[in-house]
Amino acid sequence: MDKISLYFAIAPFLIFAAIIVITYAATRHKAPKAVPVGQSFSCVKCARRGNREHMLPVREEGVIAWYCPRCSATLAKM
Ligand SMILES: [Zn+2]
Repeated sequence: MDKISLYFAIAPFLIFAAIIVITYAATRHKAPKAVPVGQSFSCVKCARRGNREHMLPVREEGVIAWYCPRCSATLAKM
């Protein structure tokens, strides 16, 4: 009897934990799809949009700033 009451005391928490794990796994699985390879970024300097492959990521204060090839060339000169 004690084991049954213990089971019903713990079961909601186990189900809650399972839902969190499933949600976490689902969001982690979706994460790469949220940033497709063909996504375009706008340059932080001149606001020109370009494909991810053509843009240069520069880490500034923990955030990644994207520069177009033209602006990244001027950055290198500075
Ligand atoms: Zn630019």
